[in-house]
Amino acid sequence: MEEEPDTGNSSRAERKALEKAKILQRERERKVFTLVGRVLKKPEAERSEEEAAALLLHREAVDELCRRQIRRNVLKRKQEEVYDAADELKSKVKQLAAAVQQANHLVVYTGAGISTAASIPDYRGPNGVWTQLQRGRTVGSSDLSKAEPTVTHMCIRMLHKENLVKHVVSQNCDGLHLRSGLPREALSELHGNMFIEVCTACSPAREFLRLFDVTERTSLHRHGTGRRCSHCGSELRDTIVHFGERGTLEQPLNWKGAAEAAKEADVILCLGSSLKVLKKYACLWSMNRPANKRPKLYIVNLQWTPKDDLAALKIHGKCDDVMSLLMEELGIQIPKYSRADDPIFNLATPLCPDEIQSHTREVLAAADGQEGPSAENEQPSEETSSLQGGWFGRGYSKGRRKKKRAA
Ligand SMILES: [Zn+2]
Repeated sequence: MEEEPDTGNSSRAERKALEKAKILQRERERKVFTLVGRVLKKPEAERSEEEAAALLLHREAVDELCRRQIRRNVLKRKQEEVYDAADELKSKVKQLAAAVQQANHLVVYTGAGISTAASIPDYRGPNGVWTQLQRGRTVGSSDLSKAEPTVTHMCIRMLHKENLVKHVVSQNCDGLHLRSGLPREALSELHGNMFIEVCTACSPAREFLRLFDVTERTSLHRHGTGRRCSHCGSELRDTIVHFGERGTLEQPLNWKGAAEAAKEADVILCLGSSLKVLKKYACLWSMNRPANKRPKLYIVNLQWTPKDDLAALKIHGKCDDVMSLLMEELGIQIPKYSRADDPIFNLATPLCPDEIQSHTREVLAAADGQEGPSAENEQPSEETSSLQGGWFGRGYSKGRRKKKRAA
């Protein structure tokens, strides 16, 4: 009985000694790294004999620091926005125009970069939502409901009308493709649509399109909007797929349409997407086919994307600029967006009188000062200063918190 505490003590002492040795070892390594890092920063000619000897002695530290520097450079290069010179842009758009004309089944994939001109912030650009939140800044919201389809949205709609584009797959939740007049069956909104709430208790799921952002109360794994289905009384849910969720709603996500389009596609045009999320959706890329049987990729994005090496052509330009040039090349006029033709006003279900108070978001106003179906009782928005709930603000912070806890 007397022996045991001794053993315990000695093993504790051993553990402590081991622990201490580890700390000292780490301390030594840290000193070597600091020394080597300082020497490496000096031009070779300015290094003393002693310093040069230190580099030879600590070969491993030198290699590791060089590897880290390379990684930093690559990361920096990937985040930079690059613009092709005017001549290069023109000649690239000529190639793109030829590809569009020759394609049998052209599918377009779009990301936040096509909506920045509508003053909707993108995610990963230098001023994107993601970048800002990662730096610990709050994201100011220019009023999202005031956004209108951009030149790019209108071009895509026109190319579809001309039967040059067969299907559009979008990561954007801003509803602008729909509002440009693109038919719903030609559209897959993979991450949902901020104007649509659905009843999943009804079969098939019943959709209610509104003239305001329905997501102010929703967030990661919490989709209830607080309003109820006018047919069965169940609570409605938003259609937004937050970071870290898997979207299963049939509409407006339309995965079936997206997968079918990808299967048929011989050309894919990616516009304004970092492709960091889209690349994870295997069914969009036909990677199971041999390389020469896959659709040809044309990518328009200012920043690096993980598909650049596989692209037939990468164009560094703003989507609106590239699409305007493309339409000129194709000899197709770009239609102007008009509120009067915006299908959302016909598709929308007006709120019941007792639901008018159920949200504080601004309501889309129809053309010519005409008021939308529920605009007469519109509540002044109190939440325009920063993005609180809804389709990215809160979803993002919840996801982050969860990750931190798991780490
Ligand atoms: Zn229902």
